[in-house]
Amino acid sequence: MSSAERYFGLRLALWYATLFVLGAIGIAVLTYYVTASSLTERDREILEAKAGEYALTYGRGGLRALAQAVRVEQLTAPERLFVRVVDRGAEALVLSHPGGWDPSTLETASRRLSDGTLVQVGKSTETRLDLLARVRAALALVTLALVTIALTGGWLATQSALRPIERLTAAVSRIVATGRTDERVTVPEHADALKDLTLLFNAMLDRIEALVNGMRGTLDNVSHDLRTPLTRLRGAAELALGGASDTAQCREALADCLEEADRLLVMLNTLMDISEAESGVMPLQRAPLRLSEIAERAVELYRDVAEAKDLEIAMAVDDDPLVSGDRIRLEQAAANLLDNAVKYTPPGGRIHVEVGRDDARALLRVRDTGPGIPASEHERIWERLFRGDSSRAERGLGLGLSLVRAVIAAHGGAVGVSSEPGLGSTFTIALPLTGPSNPSRL
Ligand code: ADP
Repeated sequence: MSSAERYFGLRLALWYATLFVLGAIGIAVLTYYVTASSLTERDREILEAKAGEYALTYGRGGLRALAQAVRVEQLTAPERLFVRVVDRGAEALVLSHPGGWDPSTLETASRRLSDGTLVQVGKSTETRLDLLARVRAALALVTLALVTIALTGGWLATQSALRPIERLTAAVSRIVATGRTDERVTVPEHADALKDLTLLFNAMLDRIEALVNGMRGTLDNVSHDLRTPLTRLRGAAELALGGASDTAQCREALADCLEEADRLLVMLNTLMDISEAESGVMPLQRAPLRLSEIAERAVELYRDVAEAKDLEIAMAVDDDPLVSGDRIRLEQAAANLLDNAVKYTPPGGRIHVEVGRDDARALLRVRDTGPGIPASEHERIWERLFRGDSSRAERGLGLGLSLVRAVIAAHGGAVGVSSEPGLGSTFTIALPLTGPSNPSRL
């Protein structure tokens, strides 16, 4: 446990204990004062009652009767009282004076009779003070016990409450120290705020781990994929340096290098795009879009090339669904499919672009009457840098379909192919629908 946490735990425990101790002391003091004042009150009532009783006895039977009553009482009562009669002539007659009493601790009550005689009754406060001293000691003991329990209980409670935070801190420290993102924090059993925090923290680590792995993968792939063309570029330059004898040959070699460098740049950019889309860090400017508009733009882009190659290109809109996506990226995906269709379909062929929907998805299809793709290649065509054997004659990097798949997946959609050699190919992009098909919403 770190010193900051220990301090936090201690502070919590101290707060709790302070409140508890103050409460306990308050209750003890109150209990003492209530007890003390009710005992004093009771003694006063006793004295007043006795004084009244004795005054009555004196009034009825004179001094003799009173002395008799006091004597009888002293034999039976548990506590002896001080009794004195002072007559008008200020002569005091003590009827009872229990020995060993400190006059300063005497409490008295008196009654004056009609003839002016004063009957005084006194009682020592010693018994009461002794009792109150015991009460004080007992209360102090109870308070001390309560304080000890409060301190220990508070400390234990804060310790157990802090344990999940400790685990969280320990996991974060390990991650910071080692740079490893596969660490996870043990989720507490009880559903509370700390459990939510831990779950969120683990989810955040999942996300960071996915991003870091994605970036690591990107770096591996890009450096691997660029090695061959770079070696080729270097080879061409080396050959020209060693072998070229005149300026024309040198110019030709330089032109080759330039072409190779351009290819490399395109390749690098496309590879970065694919990796970004695959690892989920591609920034998508999402907006509601009509799928037909995306398809139309791509068709317009390729119409001239198709016609120059004597290809018929047509578009059909069955239903025009609304999708949420990045216009430029979706147009790029549609254009890549059309690029392949135009590239691989021999002159005289047809290319059909269809926009529609099924129950839950918006669909964009590109059909061609090209050579088709053998079943063995249906999976491989999506791989980076894969080029079909029969396609080598055409220009291309083998990255077009990888980019389409990555961009569509980043939009939450999917892309698939159905094709048979000799019967043409159909590529289908499926995207999640957004809202009802209502043009006024755009
Ligand atoms: P590139 O076209 O640059 O080779 P792609 O990733 O776009 O790379 O396509 C990968 C491979 O899939 C191509 O080399 C080709 O063999 C095959 N392919 C793609 N589209 C078609 C198509 N419309 N007709 C036939 N083959 C295709």
